Amino acid sequence: MPTLEHNISALKLRIKKQCHIVHRDNNSVHLLAVSKTRNADTVKLAYDLGLRQFGENYVTEAEKKISRLPDDIEWHFIGPIQSNKTRFISEHFSWVQTIDRLKIARRLNQQRPDNLPMLQCLIQINISSDPKKAGIAPEEMLTLAEQISTMPKLQLRGLMAIPKASQASADLNKDFSNMAKLLRQLQTIYKQADTLSMGMSSDLETAITHGSTMVRIGTDLFGPRQ
Ligand SMILES: *Cc1c(COP(=O)(O)O)cnc(C)c1O
Repeated sequence: MPTLEHNISALKLRIKKQCHIVHRDNNSVHLLAVSKTRNADTVKLAYDLGLRQFGENYVTEAEKKISRLPDDIEWHFIGPIQSNKTRFISEHFSWVQTIDRLKIARRLNQQRPDNLPMLQCLIQINISSDPKKAGIAPEEMLTLAEQISTMPKLQLRGLMAIPKASQASADLNKDFSNMAKLLRQLQTIYKQADTLSMGMSSDLETAITHGSTMVRIGTDLFGPRQ
């Protein structure tokens, strides 16, 4: 049974190796631990081993966990956002990676408490044009970005994508490389947009090749989900 400690070092090594292969600084890729379905004790073990960035997909699950864990954890919301759940997200998360409509951005901005720093935001792009997936079409990116940029409590930091699973590697490469192009386009207007969140357990190497700055890892860190 591989331990969590072993998994963390194995992942850091994979990131480091891939960065080396594509001539990138390995500090340019963050490891986001995806803790959905894992209990607070498991998250605490990962915390004690040095991880500080965790991603949650469901508000009802996060509600039970966040209050029981150290408050220097940087929580990222990475699931679909229902408008009746925005208040908890704006009060307890540092980042939201899945903004895909104006209404949600407006609510997060209105509900972000004044004593907290700006909420760090990524726009989710439906890069494989998968009708089953959340996210906006690439053509809609600049409109939503402009709307977000006027909101005082939101800071636009970049883009996030979940490419269609089980597609040919040529298509996956294309999706990731299109994401990198979109980020460059965004950066010509918004200099602070420095984040490209893409790559999961099975495709982090490909994502890093195409410029990912944050890989979101669940399975290869904590083991298979039930
Ligand atoms: C579950 C999830 C992940 C982690 O996927 P693994 O394949 O388990 O590493 C990453 N990103 C999002 C948005 C997820 O929902």
